[in-house]
Amino acid sequence: MRQILVAGNWKMHKLIGEARQLASELTSRLTGLNASVTVVLCPPFTALAEVADAIAGTGVFLGAQNVHWEEKGAYTGEVSPSMIKDAGCEYVIIGHSERRQYFGEIDETVNRRVRAALHAKLKPIVCVGESERQRDQGQTEAVIIEQVRKGLVDLNAEGMGHVVIAYEPVWAIGTGKNATPQQAQEVHALIRGLISNTFGESIASSLLILYGGSVKPGNAGELLAQPDIDGALVGGASLEADSFEGIVRAGVAVVSE
Ligand code: PEP
Repeated sequence: MRQILVAGNWKMHKLIGEARQLASELTSRLTGLNASVTVVLCPPFTALAEVADAIAGTGVFLGAQNVHWEEKGAYTGEVSPSMIKDAGCEYVIIGHSERRQYFGEIDETVNRRVRAALHAKLKPIVCVGESERQRDQGQTEAVIIEQVRKGLVDLNAEGMGHVVIAYEPVWAIGTGKNATPQQAQEVHALIRGLISNTFGESIASSLLILYGGSVKPGNAGELLAQPDIDGALVGGASLEADSFEGIVRAGVAVVSE
């Protein structure tokens, strides 16, 4: 049976009370979901503990939006893998394009975070994606190959078995302009092929590769129906219960086919 994962990236939105309200609303709407669909909520750090409490025992998972690679020390403003684990996280988004664009994230630091997250028994959701200019110049494949290779350096097959990859074309994030199912499928197949070459066929076939970039209830079904699209990383549409529920239900429809 196909597995689908839908993760909501709340970015820098929601005060603690608002986060609790949305999490509670979603869990009440999404209880008893098909076990093949995993739902992950990624609120800001300040709301992690509150959302953990709201979703406890519901089967919905918690994720953070970033993590530092050091376990402890003089790193003002940073949050360690064991701290987010302690707050209830199972997942952590790493290398989001907004981190790359505004906060100096590069493939080498993505790799350090991924290895630290795995060490703490967290599941990293590793984001890759080309800019509009790179796509226009025909560099999509080369950019994705480099980001995947460098981001996953020094992982063994066991570690790779806990990694989720999110393909998020930068030009589609928050723009309302999603990749077509064919464009996304092409890149997802490329990523699965790369993982197969490095880690073997069995790890590659069970790897979850999410698509992210203006996913909405109206386009989720056709994206998730693609053979190599195993879920969605959702920004804007994860901030409202109706739209996020609609996307999750599109996933349920795909696994139930
Ligand atoms: C994201 O932030 O990961 C994202 C895909 O955003 P949006 O869905 O708003 O494009």
